[in-house]
Amino acid sequence: MRSERDLLRWLQRHVTPARPDIRLGIGDDAAVLIPPPNRQLVVMSDALVEDIHFRRRYVPAEAMGHKALAVNLSDCAAMGATPRFCLLSLAVPPDARALAEGIVAGLLALADRTQVALVGGDTTASPQGLFIDVTLIGDVATDGVVTRAGAHPGDHIFVSGWLGAAAAALQALERQLPPPDATAQMRFLFPEPRLKLGQRLAERQLATAMIDLSDGLSLDLARLCEASGVGAILEAEALPIAPAAFAIAGEPNGARHLALDGGEDYELLFTVSPEQLPAVFEVREQLAEEGIPLTGIGRITETTTVMLRHHGALRPLQAGGYDHFTRFEKDGNGATDSSA
Ligand SMILES: [Mg+2]
Repeated sequence: MRSERDLLRWLQRHVTPARPDIRLGIGDDAAVLIPPPNRQLVVMSDALVEDIHFRRRYVPAEAMGHKALAVNLSDCAAMGATPRFCLLSLAVPPDARALAEGIVAGLLALADRTQVALVGGDTTASPQGLFIDVTLIGDVATDGVVTRAGAHPGDHIFVSGWLGAAAAALQALERQLPPPDATAQMRFLFPEPRLKLGQRLAERQLATAMIDLSDGLSLDLARLCEASGVGAILEAEALPIAPAAFAIAGEPNGARHLALDGGEDYELLFTVSPEQLPAVFEVREQLAEEGIPLTGIGRITETTTVMLRHHGALRPLQAGGYDHFTRFEKDGNGATDSSA
């Protein structure tokens, strides 16, 4: 497509058909949406920037679009919310115009599957580098929202899925090695946000606090603990480390480092009071049927430090995940690392 008008026409042909909660979709000055009665709106946005979050040479256009929505859906899941609408802003450099359609198609495929309607956005030229920004609007029951701030000493810490898979796949791509395995490759290129798990936990009020793992377990757990005013002890031997992390690292310490600090897992990390453990075990059984493990990896403590127990010895766990601004300062160039 050559112009913004072409893209708009293409979008109008491809977006979700009429829905009762959309009075006005793409094409006017703004979308007009009807909020569900007795629900709170949950709104979030996240941008993907070329050479900061992805590289064009190994991320297909469809994966860029998928991921731009998926990272927002993952935040939505971490609030226990149900996603409804999204907006897409796309800044495209001249040499990437051919990718625009694929990016939108990748976003729409995931939007369809998760019943999210694309209701607006913007396209513009970019002097260099692709920029994909998605705003997502969801809703949650008035008493159903789960924040990062509710963890109490004694709570159990759970994580979904396998950790370090996406980081392992990214390393393979960066080092131009064959992908460690197909699952890890998919986890990196087409992450599947844990929406159902987030909603289940929220509906039954099983999680005292929750966060999605975007920047690495060590950093995201530190964020949850800071928001809750607590600390934690993580059990190194309990971590569900992805087979791909072992394959790429070649030894257990390196694999554990990928699982703790690698980032881009897009799994859910949440805390559960001891009284709610049996109910969470039920959820774990349901999830196991879908092939997704749910693993207890530690406990919340009263002190505000995060510790790692390994072979019986406790040591402070450095929050080694990805922080965009500190990484930018260290490198003097954010474009030298594409993990996020
Ligand atoms: Mg998040």
